[in-house]
Amino acid sequence: DVSHNVLLYLEGISVSFDGFKAINDLNLYIDDGELRCIIGPNGAGKTTMMDIITGKTTPDSGSAWFGQTINLLDLDEPAIAQAGIGRKFQKPTVFEALTVWENLELAMADDRAVWSILHARLNSEQQDLLHETLILIGLKSHAKMQAGKLSHGQKQWLEIGMLLMQKPRLLLVDEPVAGMTHQEMDRTAELLTSLAGRHSVVVVEHDMDFVRSLAGKDRTVSVLHQGSVLSEGSMDKVQNDPRVIEVYLGE
Ligand code: ADP
Repeated sequence: DVSHNVLLYLEGISVSFDGFKAINDLNLYIDDGELRCIIGPNGAGKTTMMDIITGKTTPDSGSAWFGQTINLLDLDEPAIAQAGIGRKFQKPTVFEALTVWENLELAMADDRAVWSILHARLNSEQQDLLHETLILIGLKSHAKMQAGKLSHGQKQWLEIGMLLMQKPRLLLVDEPVAGMTHQEMDRTAELLTSLAGRHSVVVVEHDMDFVRSLAGKDRTVSVLHQGSVLSEGSMDKVQNDPRVIEVYLGE
């Protein structure tokens, strides 16, 4: 029973590497505007799942839809990004020699090579988006600073900002708080929750305290294990699920 509000729809997805089922009949439904946390032990298939959503890996079977009309399995990686799915990897990849502002400008450019030569002027809608994003990621007073001089946390936020420049409908975020201070983690939780509603956000994360702060009482957490969803529900529910406890004790 899938609600009409589903933005990302994965059903019966399987993929094997050399006969090993990394993803095994995975079903996952993400609502429009939802913030979903995905947890699971090492090797559970979290990265492979993200690879399938973004078109980096093609599943052996199953279906994957984005919105009502976009069959993700028909599209290659660039076309999926174009359709509105942005992915942030764990390691930030900002352009260290450019300023914060320039990084955001570059992320908005259709053609990065052209931007680097012409510094094409932004229209007013683009300028508004850039200003809003600078405030959202907490870097308004750092706009002219070289990205290489930012702290680790600030670089992560800048990269999220760069993804926002493409106006994605779905953001996939891989372990955003690895290596962050507690204060940076709190700020990141604020940032990601503030994106929900306007965007759907899927966060893969190991840090359980962080997941608890993101999920709160009401948001859904999915636990992946051996390539499928082992348990799903509120953080309280999944943490008290005996199957989940068993899997984590075995780590
Ligand atoms: P997670 O991100 O949850 O740690 P992964 O998706 O990285 O899990 O991996 C799931 C399983 O699939 C692991 O056992 C991993 O070794 C295997 N795997 C992932 N990618 C490949 C690949 N390209 N070739 C072979 N095995 C892979």
